[in-house]
Amino acid sequence: MDVARIDALRARPVAPGSHIIDGAPRPASDGAVMDVVSPIDGQVLTTVPRGTADDAAAAVAAARAAFHDGRWSDLPPAARKAVLLRWADLIEANALELAVLGVRDNGTEIAMAMKAEPMSAAAAIRFYAEAIDKLYGEIAPTGPGNLGLVHREPVGVVGAIVPWNFPLMIGAWKLGPALAAGNTVVLKPAETASLTLLRIAELALEAGMPPGVLNVVTGEGAVVGAAIAESMDVDVLVFTGSGATGRRLLEASARSNLKRVYLELGGKSPNVVFADAPDLDEAAKVSAYGIFRNSGQVCVAGSRLLVERSIHDAFVEKLAAVARQMKVGDPLDPATGAGAVNSERQLAQNLQFVEEARAAGRRIALGGGRILEETGGYYMAPTIVAGVAPDDRLAREEVFGPVLAVIPFDTEEEATALANATDYGLAAAVWTADLSRAHRMVRRIKAGIVHVNTYGGSDLTVPLGGVKQSGNGHDKSLHAFDKYLDLKTAWFKL
Ligand code: NAD
Repeated sequence: MDVARIDALRARPVAPGSHIIDGAPRPASDGAVMDVVSPIDGQVLTTVPRGTADDAAAAVAAARAAFHDGRWSDLPPAARKAVLLRWADLIEANALELAVLGVRDNGTEIAMAMKAEPMSAAAAIRFYAEAIDKLYGEIAPTGPGNLGLVHREPVGVVGAIVPWNFPLMIGAWKLGPALAAGNTVVLKPAETASLTLLRIAELALEAGMPPGVLNVVTGEGAVVGAAIAESMDVDVLVFTGSGATGRRLLEASARSNLKRVYLELGGKSPNVVFADAPDLDEAAKVSAYGIFRNSGQVCVAGSRLLVERSIHDAFVEKLAAVARQMKVGDPLDPATGAGAVNSERQLAQNLQFVEEARAAGRRIALGGGRILEETGGYYMAPTIVAGVAPDDRLAREEVFGPVLAVIPFDTEEEATALANATDYGLAAAVWTADLSRAHRMVRRIKAGIVHVNTYGGSDLTVPLGGVKQSGNGHDKSLHAFDKYLDLKTAWFKL
């Protein structure tokens, strides 16, 4: 990685952001702005508009008009594809600039941000762009007197509300299929990670995307997000974030126009290590990264470690040894393994979980506190809490921080029951050399993805989505199109 260039980009002032509505930069309707505080040092980096309900309505109106006149939806799929491929190329050409801007905004370590943010966003946009002129409709197997055609049509205006941990990647998982399918979009970034999404919206215009097709409105969830959710003119709402917000979005849909709502929510994902795992050193290394990268701010983080009792102490020590080697700190240093916690509020929340565990007499096997306070930034030591009881809040609730809860087990049955003893069902992993056991656990664990002898790293070709209170609907893979395309039947009497 080009360290000199990173340092030059880090020193660059960041101009105040604007909404992008109908292809043009716009301030908030009342001129209000909010500070963008960098978690690297706690300093104000720039401002973005503190959007109003009127701003959200203006963006929805622009998206509706753009959808209605067919400037995007009526283009041949190959023409939309060409624009999207140019957009992906521009994102890739500006990857380092985008990655550094994003890191200054949200604190993810640069090595991970580079891959997971601009590069994976470009890959997702390309994936859906390349697919869209290869999707066919259907001819139904009717009797000879009839003809049944099944068309796939864009649903219309998509509202997309995204979180701060991977704004470009998660944004692109929604924008890629939504836009390729011919919809128009109103996107609402998280309060603490707006800058890169505003920038790629500018790049979309540069790539030739017509005005009004992609609109971005910054501001507070309770104002801008709520206005999009309550809108009578948004057809589908796609969301990644917390369960509490997801619940509000479903209520908003019920109160307004019954728009479809697809939720990608949190997790308390079990990482189950059996004594017969093929390589315990590898399991410890991958498990450490599976919880501590991006300071645990990963929806699929393996935050509950279930370990067979016979290897419990040795395995926890192996994992702690890997975590001790991980460099935590300046996220713009390419050697950093875990960057900053996104906000002061998130850091306080993480520390509260640890304090409760400590007060309940649980063993803090590693870390447990804030570090590097002198920088003014928000950093937390990778933390391992052993002896966690299945009923502890730490075993049941998502921290969304670098805190690993460890629970021992004795049998496969017990491991399965513990793995499923949560309201969530996003991700899981099983480490074992016993193929039959691996297959049994894949079937029995209630989760959207079960890794076997690895953690993370699945690519765009497979769906990501939760079961239980981790959500509904899927991002990634061709299945993601289902959210953005309606089926329409044409029935002919011949
Ligand atoms: P959050 O729910 O607080 O915020 C997410 C988005 O919703 C933000 O854009 C926010 O402004 C908006 N929002 C907040 N209140 C709103 C309201 N009343 N109406 C409409 N919009 C509102 O979540 P967060 O703290 O930003 O993100 C962390 C959460 O996201 C974690 O629970 C994490 O597990 C989850 N997450 C899930 C996935 C996944 O794919 N399943 C991926 C990343 C993060």
